[in-house]
Amino acid sequence: MLPEVEQYFRIEKLPHMWCPGCGNGIVLHSLVNAISGLGLNQDKTVIVSGIGCASRAAGYLDFDTLHTTHGRALAFATGIKFSRPELNVFVLMGDGDCTAIGGNHLIHAARRNINLTAIVFNNHIYGMTGGQYSPMTPSKKRATTAVFGSVERAFNLPELVKGAGATYVARATTYHTALLTNLIMEAHKNKGFSLVEVITACPTAYGRYNKLGSPAEMLKAQRENAVNIKDLRGSNGEVPEGKVVIGELYRAEAPEYIEEYLAAVKALQEKGGK
Ligand code: SF4
Ligand code: MG
Repeated sequence: MLPEVEQYFRIEKLPHMWCPGCGNGIVLHSLVNAISGLGLNQDKTVIVSGIGCASRAAGYLDFDTLHTTHGRALAFATGIKFSRPELNVFVLMGDGDCTAIGGNHLIHAARRNINLTAIVFNNHIYGMTGGQYSPMTPSKKRATTAVFGSVERAFNLPELVKGAGATYVARATTYHTALLTNLIMEAHKNKGFSLVEVITACPTAYGRYNKLGSPAEMLKAQRENAVNIKDLRGSNGEVPEGKVVIGELYRAEAPEYIEEYLAAVKALQEKGGK
């Protein structure tokens, strides 16, 4: 481990439990690089996670961390931010955790534009619980609960949270680690609800059921299938078939929930209300 990031890990908790070739560690590395790059105070930074392979990340990190209940990471994070708005709060979730059982919390955190940085590890499947399809499994792809291929359509997560009210939305893959680090930094700087989707490999479940090859081949596919949004500008903006758009996808200004709430309380107090 590089000495500049070692301080962010609970070394005694390693080795981690992830499978060889899993992309989760790559996301984690980009996250600590971003925290280091932002110069955040380790004692004023909180990592919240839900349930699933990705959410085990919180246990390996040496911050104040909460490994919470399935789908509820954003609800816990909202409580933390409400009671201590000065803290930096990062929320780590898997695709199933965030968009299925946690979908309701997701849209309302985005709608409120609460100042949190959500990072969604999208491996297109429920890895820990046995490879079931999630709302982020692409149509026709296989899972233990879709042995002939899923007949559902996957969420377009960036469009979903943008529509719900998020003010920063980005996407990267575990192949594009420098980009991912920069996007997490920009997401954190945004005062409002920010979400970074990370396409990451689960060779054990998604990769195996869909015959996507070795972990290295899955990473290579991430490189080949990605198109940076900057390269789409100037064209008609259409995404070529089978490609995944990465980069900073959306940025907007909107009132931040806690600031609005506290301002409303202050105004009432000044009027002599209770
Ligand atoms: Fe990673 Fe998939 Fe293994 Fe979970 S099951 S640790 S997501 S490779
Ligand atoms: Mg998953």
